[in-house]
Amino acid sequence: MKIKKCPFCGEKDSVEVYDYNEFYSSIFKKDILPENSHVASGFVVNCNVIEGGCGAIGGYGLTKKDAIKKWNKRAHIAKKALI
Ligand SMILES: [Zn+2]
Repeated sequence: MKIKKCPFCGEKDSVEVYDYNEFYSSIFKKDILPENSHVASGFVVNCNVIEGGCGAIGGYGLTKKDAIKKWNKRAHIAKKALI
């Protein structure tokens, strides 16, 4: 599934899908999910600051496809709001 460009800064190359736990662990420098968490794994789309993005984060998805779907929906709503 194709990831749409960022609805906030318009960047495209900086938008990527990440493993949810790895992504937040890299920000907070520790595992954020407790061992018995019901959110065992998942994905999130981020407009990566290091790659020139704005840092916007999409919704949590159980699969990569689900996370991308949520990100793409945000892009669609933002576009509508600008009209
Ligand atoms: Zn952005």
